[in-house]
Amino acid sequence: MCGVFGVWGHPEAANLTYLGLHALQHRGQESAGIASTDRERLYAHRVMGLVQAGFSSRELGELKGDAAIGHVRYSTAGTSHLKNAQPLAVDYASGSIALGHNGNLTNHDALRAELEAAGSIFQSGTDTETIIHLFARSKMAGVEDRLVDALRKVEGAYSLLLLSERKMIAVRDPMGIRPLVLGKMRRGDREVALVASEPTSFDLIGGEMVRDVRPGEVLVFDDEGMRSFFPFEQKTRAMCLFEYVYFARPDANLEGASVYEVRKELGRRLAEEHPLPAGADDGIVVPVPDSGVPAAIGFAEASGLSFQMGLIRSHYVGRTFIEPQDSIRHFGVRLKLNPNRAVLQNKRVIVVDDSVVRGTTSRKIVKMIRDAGAKEVHVRVSSPPTKWPCFYGIATPTREELIASSQSTAEITAYLEADSVGYLSLGALTGACDTVQGVPSRQSKYCHACFSGEYPVPIPSAPAHRLRLVG
Ligand code: AMP
Repeated sequence: MCGVFGVWGHPEAANLTYLGLHALQHRGQESAGIASTDRERLYAHRVMGLVQAGFSSRELGELKGDAAIGHVRYSTAGTSHLKNAQPLAVDYASGSIALGHNGNLTNHDALRAELEAAGSIFQSGTDTETIIHLFARSKMAGVEDRLVDALRKVEGAYSLLLLSERKMIAVRDPMGIRPLVLGKMRRGDREVALVASEPTSFDLIGGEMVRDVRPGEVLVFDDEGMRSFFPFEQKTRAMCLFEYVYFARPDANLEGASVYEVRKELGRRLAEEHPLPAGADDGIVVPVPDSGVPAAIGFAEASGLSFQMGLIRSHYVGRTFIEPQDSIRHFGVRLKLNPNRAVLQNKRVIVVDDSVVRGTTSRKIVKMIRDAGAKEVHVRVSSPPTKWPCFYGIATPTREELIASSQSTAEITAYLEADSVGYLSLGALTGACDTVQGVPSRQSKYCHACFSGEYPVPIPSAPAHRLRLVG
């Protein structure tokens, strides 16, 4: 998963982008980058690791100009290496461009093979570079026409930002799989345009959300202002449900719905679908922080049980799932969470988390809670069983590693050593999103491939083996 942020028309564009990326850090912690323009040329800086660690005032000062785009990344295509960090910035026949992309292209292996056969030499392992090559080879004249021409050939998920010397362009794929929002802020009597993966990044810099970028929409920012057009064939919407379940920040608003309210509603519906057995009304509801907190609040509200912080999270550890190495991830659970014995002892505990992927985290959590003296541990998950990998920009393990792809809920209960396990149904999940969005149920469409195996865009064949740089 990744995050993008862009500013058009502010003399401190790079500084604002740095701050915006800060607020999007949860979307990717492997690498970060910013590219800016002073209308004459592009400047770019990319680093491995967190935004805060990678940019000093010297680098930010060198990122000149009044427009900038930024990117935070964790790898879904390509390895964790600086060559794959974004924005990718290149020179082509008529100038320079920088490109930052959130999502995954499903036909990029085929396109890359075609481009390589025609002589293209790829510098990175990312699918994003495919767009760059298609752009550079396009016979169209202007930057926006070249970009649209390139994007007509790609399939899959993309919310992206392109920066040239004189334009910033934002595009969301025709299904709107990944989020992208338009914002603004004032500077004197002028309006500054902002674009980001999530609107929370606007709050930090005193900006405000205008609206979601629409599926298939292209927004061009230049000296003439902002233009919007829809050059692609219209498709059925397929916004990623996992953004609501886990990925986006709870204080974000996506497609007219507060992510926090959606998650609380998921918890309420989970309590209706999977209450505790009769007579267990002395139970306590414990969230797995931070991702399980809003759903646990909803669960506690609907069940009338008390909400307790039975697990305490260290705030000096990021999203442990994102750690590419298995050994670190396993250790990570202990590093991140500690049981609060005073709360858990002798209690029936309903532990609420947003998702179970491999099951390794939940298994450790159940043991931790039991070891702290709980008499029963009931696991409640505010999403359906994750059975299928994502090919549209969320890093998921292979199908074999997804515990629910091969095991029933009874088997998962045994593996987790829990007293019971209850997953939210897909109908309740989409219903909750629709309710909070304020649309009649089943009106809006979502991508639920990870739960249902129904992929809205055909999925790619096995990826090709590629050169691997180490160190
Ligand atoms: P596990 O079942 O051990 O694989 O880990 C599941 C936990 O990781 C869940 O509780 C989520 O909070 C978190 N999680 C789920 N999917 C992702 C993802 N794609 N990227 C990062 N974290 C995730």
